[in-house]
Amino acid sequence: MEELMYKSTRNSDLRLMASKAVLQGLSEDGGLFVPTYIPKLDVSLEDLSKMDYRGVAYEVMKLYMTDYTEDELKHCIASAYDEKFDTENIVDLVWADGAYYLELFHGSTIAFKDMALSILPHLMTTAAKKNDIEDDIVILTATSGDTGKAALAGFDSVPGTKIIVFYPKGGVSFIQERQMVTQAGANTCVIGVNGNFDDCQSAVKRMFADTELKKTLAELGCRFSSANSINIGRLIPQVVYYVYSYVKLLGEGKIARGDEINVTVPTGNFGNILAAYLAKHMGVPIDRLICASNENKVLFDFFNTGVYDKKREFKLTNSPSMDILISSNLERLIYFIAGEDDDANKALMKRLTDEGRYEITDEMKKGLKDFYGGFAAEADTLSQIKKLYDDTGYVLDTHTAVASFVYDEYVKKTGDKKKTVIASTASPYKFTPSVLSAIEGSKSDADPFALVDILAEKSGVKIPRAVSELKNAPIKHDKVVEIDEMKGAVLEFLR
Ligand SMILES: *Cc1c(COP(=O)(O)O)cnc(C)c1O
Repeated sequence: MEELMYKSTRNSDLRLMASKAVLQGLSEDGGLFVPTYIPKLDVSLEDLSKMDYRGVAYEVMKLYMTDYTEDELKHCIASAYDEKFDTENIVDLVWADGAYYLELFHGSTIAFKDMALSILPHLMTTAAKKNDIEDDIVILTATSGDTGKAALAGFDSVPGTKIIVFYPKGGVSFIQERQMVTQAGANTCVIGVNGNFDDCQSAVKRMFADTELKKTLAELGCRFSSANSINIGRLIPQVVYYVYSYVKLLGEGKIARGDEINVTVPTGNFGNILAAYLAKHMGVPIDRLICASNENKVLFDFFNTGVYDKKREFKLTNSPSMDILISSNLERLIYFIAGEDDDANKALMKRLTDEGRYEITDEMKKGLKDFYGGFAAEADTLSQIKKLYDDTGYVLDTHTAVASFVYDEYVKKTGDKKKTVIASTASPYKFTPSVLSAIEGSKSDADPFALVDILAEKSGVKIPRAVSELKNAPIKHDKVVEIDEMKGAVLEFLR
């Protein structure tokens, strides 16, 4: 078989090695990088079931990161999945009320983005070395809350990297701001902006496109890179935990050889569920991919009608990390179900930009048979948290609760009782006020740290380090700038 490389969803003829795709992030034609084929696992599921997380990670990632040597890849994996995680297994599978919850929140910021953002910096610095790039990699990010902190934690003190995060001052939660401004690590910089998230995002995009700035950076021995969720260095590490959960269930005798499972994923940008799709097509016996949305249910409508329509009211929900109307990673699925036809994909994406909507062909709809789309309204999300707590004592965060509700509805509708893994994407402590109000049925505006203590009592789950540390952590970053001062602030930090 030819060596696996990367091509663009908007140019099937392009060929790039994995390390180049990691460094570049997005293809110059605006497309996303996809592997030239989906590789099959070359180790049996039985053998994988005897490995730990790092072992499985290597067996999966080696098939995609083909220009990384064994030593390089193993070094990246060992540097990422270590004591930063508060469970030795890196991820835990917990049985509650008819499904296995795959806890992806044991990393530094207690949300699933840690799974990819702990390894991305190492994949990037290794890629730079392989491609004879001596410049420091500078990650520039605008955040509405969660991604910023996960990226800061991932890049914290990684040699050869610097990270600058802009957030809208007054536009993120108290806990989110506290998490970011207490970030240690001399290579990190966090700056508040007097503006909203869109202002921050637009200014960051302008800086990426600023050739003058690029030149100045080169003189300083630096170059920009992006840690956003379309980078294959974020997508591929997410495939690992779907393979790992299957072989873990197999190894523990919870499923038998050949048994199929279903997977349910609370979805926003479509990265996490796309990783499950890749795992399925690599040979893991996964049947349905259940895509759970909140009230921003563009994907639910898409799976049910074949029409993607972003022209609708944007809703702020109690699962904010899923408040998205353009799921960027969906473009990869569109490309696959279009038979890897770059022109067909390009035409649909152009329609999305120009008209805000597109419809796929009947032929393409056949490619969606792996998927089931459902959604949970705000009240459903909260009642699901209460239901699980009352029935089992297990406490879900709001995002996982969306998935849990959609899964229950799926079983009622289809009668499909296959063993199911639900991706649990955040610790309940990350969204304490919403979770507590669901359990207690009352709203409280008490001090956020007092609420954390109450949740600890109710759930019996130890308060994660990420939260307990915050209370007394010293503030390291207190800079606040105007929108037109952002570029100056970047140069000041880099100098
Ligand atoms: C980012 C995020 C999601 C959505 O994941 P996608 O890969 O964007 O679909 C769900 N839950 C939480 C807690 C998240 O942070």
